[in-house]
Amino acid sequence: MRNSCFILLALLSASGSNAFEVSGNFWENGQAIFHIGISGDSPTGGSWNAAFKRSMNAWSEATSFQFIAIDDFVDPCTARGGGLFGDDITGVDFTATVCGTEFSDSVLAVTLTAGTCLNQQCTGGFHITDADIVFNNNENWDVYTGPSHFFVTDFERVALHELGHALGLDHESTNPSIMQGLVSNTDSLQTDDINGANSIYGGATSLQTIYGIEVIVPAASSLSGPNDSINLAGVLSSSDASLDNKFIDLYQYKFENDSRVDIQLDSTAINPFLYLVRVSSAQDTIPAFTFSDDNSGPGTNASISTDIQAGTYWIGVSSAQNNEQGSYALAMSATSSGGGSSFEIIDSSYGPSVEINPNPNIAGTLASSDFVYEGKFLDLYQFDVVNSTTLRVDLGSNNFDTRLLMVDVLPDKVLGSLFFQDDNISLSNSNSRIEQRLLPGTYWIGVTSFDNAETGDYNIDISVVIP
Ligand SMILES: [Zn+2]
Repeated sequence: MRNSCFILLALLSASGSNAFEVSGNFWENGQAIFHIGISGDSPTGGSWNAAFKRSMNAWSEATSFQFIAIDDFVDPCTARGGGLFGDDITGVDFTATVCGTEFSDSVLAVTLTAGTCLNQQCTGGFHITDADIVFNNNENWDVYTGPSHFFVTDFERVALHELGHALGLDHESTNPSIMQGLVSNTDSLQTDDINGANSIYGGATSLQTIYGIEVIVPAASSLSGPNDSINLAGVLSSSDASLDNKFIDLYQYKFENDSRVDIQLDSTAINPFLYLVRVSSAQDTIPAFTFSDDNSGPGTNASISTDIQAGTYWIGVSSAQNNEQGSYALAMSATSSGGGSSFEIIDSSYGPSVEINPNPNIAGTLASSDFVYEGKFLDLYQFDVVNSTTLRVDLGSNNFDTRLLMVDVLPDKVLGSLFFQDDNISLSNSNSRIEQRLLPGTYWIGVTSFDNAETGDYNIDISVVIP
């Protein structure tokens, strides 16, 4: 049994409409497919479809929400009106009425959303499963930029506004934004609009790398399920970093478990070139898990299918020829048995076993079965540094007062100095931090507690400090 509900939004009207406002409704996967087949062209020549797609792309490029265009006509009023809640297929068109109900005075367009309620009373919002947009064909429309004309409305900025409703935004009354309730001279997405969408869907963040290339960390970048799928759209452009005269976009994903991954990189604008590179906590690449492909997909598209170990990976999108620019689509599916990770455990001559784990993020547990060191339990992790790097190691736990150790390991697995340790000096709570420049070599991170015999879960986060 599915609860349905709908709301009428989207009155870009003469009635007036704080920072961004969210409706409380959202697309579960952070993306929406729109079927677009509006007939005809605007008076000044461009097709309505092209203008609508530019509006979709504007949201997709500026925010973590993705609109995906499909070129076919779907009637937005199918299963609308008369108490119906849509057909879960998006449509867009010019119509004389709002699917049977008159447009209110001065209303230019309406977005009708429907979905599955999050609670029985449907007071807590819903997962949007359908969004249909109708533009009032009693109005005069064209496509233009700049100041708004009195008697001819710019279709493209209204489309931007309606798509904001479609992804879950309400009207914004204070900050400059396309989501203001009245059509205005604003013809493009504003910071408030972008922050609004990212507040719902989690904005991508980025990391500085020692290679001088920023890595995009998508909001949903940690993959732990038995089946995960990722769809990204992007553009290689001259503002990107370049590698050997090819532009490159890098995305970071973390696989919680050993996984099978299938990655497909498609483009009609460029000859795609794909990288999958495992990186260590020091951002060194791990050669055994470094892959690249030019043409294994259909046509000149690129594709990589392989088994990988749990860890942090960078997916690189680039081109086969120099300086190619254009849009691309990246699709990845990852499957795992949920069986965790196959990190090697070695016995040390000092007693405790050591997990060889080069990942920047490690989740572990101090347990009573662990090796005991001066009355405290101890876990050890080994990683290598290939290039001299300054690393910041944070150890956090909600269960015990942490103590973090780092030692260098000499070639014959003999400990060098216990040269760094931290209790809770650096941070305001019981967490620990070490920040230190490391020369190439092998190191152990030790996790233990301040008080005797403490147990519980902890997390280690290692990041590279860029000078
Ligand atoms: Zn509106």
